[in-house]
Amino acid sequence: MAAEIQPKPQARTPVLLNKIEASQDVVNTAVIIPKEDGVISVSEDRTIRIWLKRDSGQYWPSPLSDILPVFQEFILSEDYNKMTPARTYQAHQGKVTVVLFVLEMEWVLSTGQDKNFTWHCSESGTQLGLYRTTAWVSGLQFDVETRHAFVGDFSGQVTILKLEQDSCSLVTTFKGHTGNVTALCWDPVQRVLFSGSSDHSIIMWDIGGRKGTAIELQGHNEKVQGLCYAPHTRQLISCSADGAIVVWNMDVTRQETPEWLDSDSCQKCEQPFFWNFKQMWDSKKIGLRQHHCRKCGQAVCGKCSAKRSTIPLMGFEFEVRVCDSCHASITDEDRAPMATFHDSKHSIVYMHYEPTTGWLLTSGTDKVVKVRQQLQDTLFVCVCLDRVFLVISLIQVKKYGNPKRHLLQVILPNGVGHKLLNDVQCMFTHFWTNIMLVLFVKYFC
Ligand SMILES: [Zn+2]
Ligand SMILES: [Zn+2]
Repeated sequence: MAAEIQPKPQARTPVLLNKIEASQDVVNTAVIIPKEDGVISVSEDRTIRIWLKRDSGQYWPSPLSDILPVFQEFILSEDYNKMTPARTYQAHQGKVTVVLFVLEMEWVLSTGQDKNFTWHCSESGTQLGLYRTTAWVSGLQFDVETRHAFVGDFSGQVTILKLEQDSCSLVTTFKGHTGNVTALCWDPVQRVLFSGSSDHSIIMWDIGGRKGTAIELQGHNEKVQGLCYAPHTRQLISCSADGAIVVWNMDVTRQETPEWLDSDSCQKCEQPFFWNFKQMWDSKKIGLRQHHCRKCGQAVCGKCSAKRSTIPLMGFEFEVRVCDSCHASITDEDRAPMATFHDSKHSIVYMHYEPTTGWLLTSGTDKVVKVRQQLQDTLFVCVCLDRVFLVISLIQVKKYGNPKRHLLQVILPNGVGHKLLNDVQCMFTHFWTNIMLVLFVKYFC
C-alpha cells in the first residue's frame, strides 16, 4: 500500500459549465440552488424564474415565472414547479436595492432607494426596526455572532450598525473609497469585511484584528461589481464591469499601504516641489511635481521614482510608482502575483458563489448567465487499494464539471465496495480541500 499526494502548480482557470441564454432581460440577481443543478434568477423586467438542468444538459425555466412585486416572500414546492406567494413586506417606497435573509435570527434585512434600512421578522412579517442611511445602499452584510450590520452606500462609506430586536445604534463608519461602495462581503471566521467600489479598488477591513488595519487590493480596471469569499480555499473572488474575474489568495499575510507623507521637497533628492517658492528662490531651482512611492509613502519627485513595480503583498497587482530605493529592495519573489485574472467574456452586473459546489455564477449585460466551476487545486492523488491502482485527477474531474459523478466512474469499474462509495459521496458534498484528500488517502491505505 502506498499513497502519494503531489500538489502541482495551481491551474486556476474557472471552467465554464453552462450558460443560460434564454432570459428576456438582464438578470439583476441570481442564486445557485444548493444541492441542485439549478439557478433562481430575477430579471430587470421583474420576472423571477427557476432554471433547472434538464437531461439535454441545458438549463430550462420551470413552467412558472412570476412578476415580482416590491418585496415578496415565496414558498417553493419540492420539485421547483410551484411557487406560492407567502408574504409581502411593506418595507420600502420604490426600488429595493439589497435583501439579506439571516436564518439564525429569522430576520430579513433590506435597503431601498428610499434610503431606508429595515429589518423584519421573517416569522411574523413585522418590521422590527428602521435606520435612515445617508445615501443609497448597494452592499449589505450581517455578522450573526455580534449582530452587526455592515451597510455600504453610494457616498463611498461603510456604516456599521449594532442591531437589537427593535432598535439599532451606530457603531462607526469606514471611509476609504473615493467612489460608491458597490459590493460588500463578510468573512465571519477571519472577521474581515471586504468592500468593492466604483473607484476600481477593494478594501479589506480587518475588524477581528482590532488595530484598524485596512488593506487595499488593486487589480481591476473598471468598477467592482461583485465580491464573494470562498472560505475553504481562503480566496476572495471579485469581478468588475469589464468582465474581469480576479481570484485573490487571502491565505497570506498582506501588508497595509503606507500613509502618504507630506513634504515641501523631494524626500530623496531634496529638490523643492513647485509650491515651495522660498526654497525655489533660495536654491534657484525650478519646483517639481510631487509624487508618492506606493511602498514607503515618501513624497518624491518624478526623477527619483521613475520605475514601476507590482507589490502583490500590498495588493498592487498592477505596476505602480515606487521610489528608486524601494524598487531596488523588491525581489522577483516579492513580485510573484497573489491573484489570478480571468475573462468572463461578458460585462458583469451580478455575481454569486456557491461554496458547497464551488460554482461561480455571473450575470452579464448580454442577458446571459454563466455558471463556472471555481475548482482550483490541481492535485493528483494516487491510491493503492488491494492491487487496484486509482488515479484521481482533478484536472479530469474538472472536465466533467461534477466531481462526484466522475470519481464514481473511476472507482466503480475497479469493484470497490459500497462503503467506499458512500464515504466518497459524503465527502464530495463538501468542497475539495487538501486536508480532505489527505484524510481520504490515510483512511484507505
Ligand atoms: Zn527627487
Ligand atoms: Zn519608496
